[in-house]
Formats: sequence, structure tokens, C-alpha cells
Amino acid sequence: MTGTVVVVGSANVDLVVDVPRHPGPGETILGGRLRRSPGGKGANQAVAAARAGGADTWFLGAVGRDDAAELLLESLSGAGVRTDLVARSDEASGTALIWVTDDGENAIIVAPGANAEVAVDDAARARLPGADVVLAQLEIPLETVLGAARARRDGARFVLNAAPSRDLSPEVWDEIDLLVVNEHEARDLAPAGGALGAAGATTAGGSAAASTPAQLARALLEKVPAVVITLGGDGALVAERGGEPETVVAPPVTAVDTTGAGDTFCGVLAAALADGATLVGAARLAAAAGALAVTRPGAQAAVPTAAETADLAR
Ligand code: ATP
Repeated sequence: MTGTVVVVGSANVDLVVDVPRHPGPGETILGGRLRRSPGGKGANQAVAAARAGGADTWFLGAVGRDDAAELLLESLSGAGVRTDLVARSDEASGTALIWVTDDGENAIIVAPGANAEVAVDDAARARLPGADVVLAQLEIPLETVLGAARARRDGARFVLNAAPSRDLSPEVWDEIDLLVVNEHEARDLAPAGGALGAAGATTAGGSAAASTPAQLARALLEKVPAVVITLGGDGALVAERGGEPETVVAPPVTAVDTTGAGDTFCGVLAAALADGATLVGAARLAAAAGALAVTRPGAQAAVPTAAETADLAR
């Protein structure tokens, strides 16, 4: 692949411990062995874009001056991501405290730390116009997301993975060329009324709870020119203004850990778009990469190589 991707977002060290059950208020329980691994939506997506093969991938983020920062930077550079735009903060590196019960249910607390300081500085402002695709998520300040989008050159695509869900300002909506969301996020963001109302799909409260992915996509197309809704094992729905929504299948696999599937999808999608793929073609590759990611434990460690993805997508 060719082309340049700049991923703007968070980097977190994931601290994971298995527990027999969730602790109650005020309770201390003993867990299993502590696992420490690189994560954070931005860094995961940058690793996925770089491992997709060939795209020149840059990560714009911030880490602390601690051990965790070394782990995060090593994982990024090991995958081939350029880290020149990663700022050092006096805050601790972002940290996700994750505990997982025997039945696989997890609970997560994120301490954003340095991620709250990600900013579009002069170096980023100089690099962003060189990007074919600017990809962001919502674990960093919204003004940084907006600043990065506005710093892209004419013709470059701004792809927003609107995760985790949060309200977007009209200025951010105006910049989005492609919105990537899972079904929950699509429900949170789809405007009530309009396409949803016309389809009779809103509930009495005006929420999008009862609507199908195709109805959600149509509603979101009132706000953005293109949308991809990821559907877990069912693949993804791709919709562009003026066309019919198209479903892209995820190859069937045995899932062992779904962590990072969405991030893998977004990173590979961005790399393929930067390489000149059509949206449907890019989504096919991204769906195959996402499927491979769920067959392996971890977030960045689970991201497949370009060759593995191409094999499965064939
Ligand atoms: P997460 O938050 O767990 O990273 P997400 O909710 O953002 O994920 P999903 O829609 O669950 O995103 O998954 C993204 C992509 O990964 C899907 O579009 C699909 O290609 C792939 N995928 C996820 N789960 C499965 C599965 N069980 N089998 C095959 N592919 C899967």
C-alpha cells in the first residue's frame, strides 16, 4: 500500500487482571497475574494502519515520562508507526485499569493522563497537510480532533471513529468525510426524526433504539457524506450519499477476544483508503482484519499483517 495516514488519538497502557467476580463497594478481592500491554484507541488504530502494509503512518498523541511511555512508543515503532509527533507530558501516560471475570465480562476505568494534553502543535500542523487520510477517535480533547481535521489539505479525507460515544459540535460534524461507528454509537449519534422518523423507526421517546443498521445509516447520511457501521460477526454496513447501503461480510472465525477488533477495522480501513481503494473495497479488507483480530488475545498484539488479511479477504 502507498499513501500517508495520520492517526490522532489516545495511547493507554492496559493493566489487566483476571478476577473471580467483580468487587463490591468498599471490598478488596484477590485477582490473578497482572498483564500489561499497549493499547488506547489511537495507538491501536495506528498500529493497524501501519501493519496493513506500506502506508506511511504517523501517530499524533501524547505520553508521559514514565515506563509506560516506553512500552507504548516501542509498540508503535515496532509496528512501523512514525512517533515524531508524540508529545511528552508531565502527566502520567494514559492508563486503562481492566478486570475480567471468569465469564469474560470486563470492567474498565480509564485514567486519561497525558491523553488530555494531545494538541495540534507546530510539528503536527506541518505534517497534517501531507496526509491522504486523517483518522481520529474521541478519547482526546474535541478541539484537537477539530484542529487536526481542519489542518488537512483539500482532498484529504477526515475519518472519525466516534468512539467512545460523546456529543459532537456542529463544527466537527461539518469536517467529517467518513464516520465509522459500531451499532451502539450509531444509535447514540443518529438524529431523531428525518430518515428514522420517516421509517417509523424511532421509539416514543424519539430514540433510535428500534431502528435497523440500514435505517441508522440513512439517518447518519443526513449529517455526513459517508458512514460505515461495524456489526461484529456480521461484518459492516457501508453507506454513501446517493447510493444504496451495502453489507460487507466478516469471514467466519472462532472469536477468543474481541478487544481491539473495532480499532483494527478502522486502522486498516484508513490505510486502504489512503492507498486509493474504494470505500467498499477498503471495508472488505478491514472486515477481514477485524475478524482475524478477534481470533487472538490482546489489542495491538492481535492486529494481523497485510499478508494474513489479504489471505482471508480473498
Ligand atoms: P470493539 O469495541 O470490541 O473493538 P467494536 O464494537 O468497535 O469492537 P465490532 O463491530 O464488534 O466493533 O467489530 C469490528 C469488526 O471486527 C467487524 O466489522 C468485523 O469485521 C470484525 N469482527 C468483530 N467480531 C467478529 C466476530 N465474532 N467474527 C468475525 N469478525 C468479527
